[in-house]
Amino acid sequence: MKFKGGHNIFLSGRPEGVVRVMPEPEVLYLPLRSRRFVFSEVVVKDGQRVNNGDTLARDPDNYGVRLLSPRAGVVRLNKVEGHIVLEEVARHEEHVDMSKEELSHIEREMGAAGIKRYRLHVLGAWQFFYDAYTGALPDPLGTPQAIIVSTLSLEPFLARGDVQLHKRLSNFTRGLEQLQSLLEYQPIYLVLPDIKSDFANLIRNHIRGHAWVKMVEIPLTYPYDDFAILARKLGLNRSKGPVWAVRTEGALAVDRALTLSKPCLVRIVSIGGTGVNSPTHIKVMPGYPIQMIRDKYVFEPVARMINGGILTGDLLGTEALGLDTECKGITILPELKDREFFGFIRPGWDRSCYAACYLSSLREKFSERFTTGLRGEGRPCISCSFCEEVCPAGIIPHLIHKYLYRDLIEEVEQARVDLCIECGLCSFVCPSKIDLVNQFIDAKRLIEQEKEELRREQERQEKLHQEELARKSGEETSE
Ligand code: SF4
Ligand code: SF4
Repeated sequence: MKFKGGHNIFLSGRPEGVVRVMPEPEVLYLPLRSRRFVFSEVVVKDGQRVNNGDTLARDPDNYGVRLLSPRAGVVRLNKVEGHIVLEEVARHEEHVDMSKEELSHIEREMGAAGIKRYRLHVLGAWQFFYDAYTGALPDPLGTPQAIIVSTLSLEPFLARGDVQLHKRLSNFTRGLEQLQSLLEYQPIYLVLPDIKSDFANLIRNHIRGHAWVKMVEIPLTYPYDDFAILARKLGLNRSKGPVWAVRTEGALAVDRALTLSKPCLVRIVSIGGTGVNSPTHIKVMPGYPIQMIRDKYVFEPVARMINGGILTGDLLGTEALGLDTECKGITILPELKDREFFGFIRPGWDRSCYAACYLSSLREKFSERFTTGLRGEGRPCISCSFCEEVCPAGIIPHLIHKYLYRDLIEEVEQARVDLCIECGLCSFVCPSKIDLVNQFIDAKRLIEQEKEELRREQERQEKLHQEELARKSGEETSE
C-alpha cells in the first residue's frame, strides 16, 4: 500500500516494553465521561454494594454501552462530581451480569450470533470497537463489510501492541477466530509492521494457518495505523456499509468475553513522556486513582498530564481523579513556565525540528527532549508547506487555515476538511505553532451542524407543504 505524508516523531520518554502491576487501590474514581462515552444513565443507588463486572451506568446515546464495576465495593454517587466512587474496594470472584431470561429471549430473536454480540456488549468488550471512518462506536447489531484489526499504536506514547501481546498471542488468535464467527463471509484485515523484527515474525507465523485473515503490512510511520486511512487504502468503500476496527486490546477483549465468558475489567496503560522517572506500561483498572500514578511515576514538581498520546491526547484537569474507561496511555510533560523567546529558531543540540533548523540536524536520529514549551510562540503562517507535506489525508492544511481565517466556510468544505483524521501532525510540525488540528475539528463540527440545520429546515418545509396539500384536498372534498 502506498501512503502519503506521515512523520516519525522521536521523543525521549518512550515507555519500556514491560507491564508493571500497580498496587490494589482502596478507592476507585470512575469518570462518567470518556472521549466517546457519556454514562448518563446511572443504574446503581448510593450506598449499594456491587460486585466485579456489575453494570454501574449506561450511555443511552451509544447503544447503551456499559460502565462496569472493575472491583467489588460500595457505590458513592455524590462524593465527587462527574464520577462514581467505589469505596471498600475488594477483589471478588468475577461476576457476569447476564440474566437467563434475557439470553433466551435474544437467542429466540437473533440466534447464536446475536448471543455473541450481546455477550460482547454486557461483558465490556464492545467498547473496544470503532467505526473505521468516524471513530464512533459501531452499532452492535450492524453488519460490517470488513473488520480491521491493528497490532500497532504508532502515536507516541500510547500502549504498544507488542507489549500487550507478550505471552498472550494465543488469546489474540482465539480473539480473531471469535471475531470471524461474528461474520458471514466478510474479510478480517490484520495490520502488522512491515519490519523483520522477532515480534512481527512471531505474529506472521502464528496467523499463517488462518486463511481468512488477510495480513496487511504497513511502515512504522505515524499515523499509517489510523483506521480511516487504512480503510481508504484497502479500497473499502464507505457506501458499502460500516467497517469495524479494533486494536490489540480489542481482540484480546473479544477472546476474554466470548471464550472465557469473563468481563473485561483491566487495561494496559502506558505511562510515558519526559516528566516520568521510568516510562513503562502498567496494569490497572478504570477508575484507578491518578494521584497514585502521579506519586509513583512523576518526578517533575510541575508537570502536565495528558490522557492519551502526545498528538491527540486531552489535558487531564485537576477535576479528573481516576482513569476513564477508554484510557490507553498517560503522557507526562514538564511544564515550561517561562517560554523561550523565539524558541522555534534557537539552535539546540538536544532538540530537533521538522524544519531541521536546529544544531541537532547535524546529529544522527535521536529522541529529543520535549516540554510543554512547544518550541516558542505562535505567529502567522509563513507558507512553508510543512503541514501539507506531512498530512496523510492529502489535504492542504495551510490553505484551509487561511480560508478559516477569512471565514470562507464553503471554501473550507470544498478543500475537503472532512477528510482530516485529526492526527495532529500538521500542528506538530508547524514552525509557527498554529493549532491547525483544533481549528479543523471545530470547522468540521460547524459544517455538520449547518448541514443538520439545513436538513431539519427542508423537513419542516416539506411537512408544511404536505399539510397545505392535505388542507386543499380537504376543502375540495367538502365543496
Ligand atoms: S489536516 Fe488533519 S489529517 Fe492532515 S495532518 Fe492535520 S490533523 Fe492530520
Ligand atoms: S506548517 Fe504552519 S507555517 Fe508552515 S504552511 Fe503550514 S500552517 Fe503555515
